[in-house]
Amino acid sequence: MKRSPRPDAATLRTCVRRIDFVLRKTYGDPKLAPARSLLGQLIETILSQNTTDTNSSRAFRELRRRFPRWDDVAAARPSAVAQAIWSAGLANTKAPRIQAILRRIQTERGRLSLAHLRKMSNSAAMDWLLSLPGVGPKTAACVLLFGMGRDVFPVDTHIHRLCRRLGMVSHFTSAEKTQEQMAGAIPKGRALAFHINLIRHGRLICRAQRPRCAVCILAAMCPSARDDGSRD
Ligand code: SF4
Repeated sequence: MKRSPRPDAATLRTCVRRIDFVLRKTYGDPKLAPARSLLGQLIETILSQNTTDTNSSRAFRELRRRFPRWDDVAAARPSAVAQAIWSAGLANTKAPRIQAILRRIQTERGRLSLAHLRKMSNSAAMDWLLSLPGVGPKTAACVLLFGMGRDVFPVDTHIHRLCRRLGMVSHFTSAEKTQEQMAGAIPKGRALAFHINLIRHGRLICRAQRPRCAVCILAAMCPSARDDGSRD
């Protein structure tokens, strides 16, 4: 497999614009879905770590059904919370993490709400979220993007894979570094659509195993493309 060096900033911006253009022509221009509360967005994003959207949505619904108020989640036995979110996987890790976050917010803010984030700049809101246990850059960026409509670009596992294969970052760049490097390259107002379209393309075509290069709309600009549709 070809290993791409890191492109300079101008080359990366051009590359992003071209890829965004092609993806938009194919998948359209997705809009922001109606947001949950910011706290709901944070908890659902934590549930989505290392699992599918279907599993995490099911876990979120079950958590809300069994514990209609966030105070109830914070006060519950950890095993009861773990049981409610079982379908999201890693329930014995995620349950205490969610409870620790809720208690920290309650202690620090005096109530279970993240409304104060709406008054913060992107970087201040990111820093605040990153100080919570188990919250990394992707989770924090998802809260800003999907919860507040901020123009930030979370890098999940699909986007990380596509950024490396498409040569937008070098092959050995971590997901966290990829998020940092991509932040300055996304055209204003395009973070949401580019994020969603890259994930769509990653699920449908540029899959982790056996990517379908032979039918890929990005093949002409992809340094990892293979004529026979396979990659190593
Ligand atoms: S050409 Fe292949 S490796 Fe490149 S983006 Fe398309 S599917 Fe992925």
